[in-house]
Amino acid sequence: AKKIGVLTSGGDAPGMNAAVRAVCRAGLAKGMEVVGILRGYNGLLNGEVIEMNARTVSGIIQRGGTCLYTARCPEFRDIEGVKKGRDKCLEMGLDGIVVIGGDGSFRGAADLSAQGIPCIGLPGTIDNDISCTEYTIGYDTAMNTAMEMIDKIRDTAQSHDRCSVVEVMGRNAGHIAINVAAAVGAEAVITPEKPYDLNAIAQKMEQTKKSGKTHFIIVVAEGVGKTEYITRTLQDITGVESRATILGHVQRGGSPTVRDRVVATEMGYHAVELLEQGIGNRVVGMKDNKIYDVDIQEALSMKKPFEEELYKILNETAF
Ligand code: ATP
Repeated sequence: AKKIGVLTSGGDAPGMNAAVRAVCRAGLAKGMEVVGILRGYNGLLNGEVIEMNARTVSGIIQRGGTCLYTARCPEFRDIEGVKKGRDKCLEMGLDGIVVIGGDGSFRGAADLSAQGIPCIGLPGTIDNDISCTEYTIGYDTAMNTAMEMIDKIRDTAQSHDRCSVVEVMGRNAGHIAINVAAAVGAEAVITPEKPYDLNAIAQKMEQTKKSGKTHFIIVVAEGVGKTEYITRTLQDITGVESRATILGHVQRGGSPTVRDRVVATEMGYHAVELLEQGIGNRVVGMKDNKIYDVDIQEALSMKKPFEEELYKILNETAF
């Protein structure tokens, strides 16, 4: 029988627990031994490891965060750290590791695979900014949270005839921003991928005001980095009282949605199937709505297309 480990690394995301559970249960179902490695690659280097049985992952599928904790591990960026990780795996008899995280975590997984320990990456981030996959674990929950928050903000913006400029997460990508903006019927979305023109947005606000509109929602992606400035400028040009809200970490927590739980379960299972065959250096992702896997180096070199169509629809229908 084989022995495998599972860890979560980088920023946390709702659904990571569902993925940990799936890896654990799939491993046990296949007669493997499974251990949980705590705090990302740190736990591997420090031996912070817990034996897992079926009950270890009981009652976590519905919980946000990660029961394995997560952290950055600067030491793992150097080949010396990776070699130490390999030695720890050999010491513990680990035949493979499932790494749940983002691109940085996958680089570590590739390095460790190159040292002879098969590693499989699972995309876990709310930002959906991993190129090799159409979907990342946590994305749906974060978008639903942001949508619910903005719906609430709209209530008060409406009562006060205000413009609410809401910053959503997404790191350097606008995936959350565009989809949430479409979902809340925002007047405009500003994302790092596209140039923006505050005068044009202000003009549109003034036009729609003439048609009876009294309040406005503008969604800004965190990667734009100018939420306060955008708010002040729109207020200065239009005279509409404007408020900035930065949603922040609320988007990272909470009980995962159906989609995040199910995708995490499918991806976790697929990762274990690969390790069962001794295959490493792969990332599990989603392509054409199906679970697939791809070489890590290839995964890291891909580029994700911008959601042009949704962006266009949003802009054409916002008035
Ligand atoms: P997120 O983007 O969601 O925060 P991430 O996995 O991209 O997730 P990082 O902080 O970039 O987050 O990486 C997490 C950990 O992965 C790092 O602390 C380090 O241990 C490891 N790592 C990152 N880059 C490398 C690298 N080039 N080589 C080896 N390991 C790496």
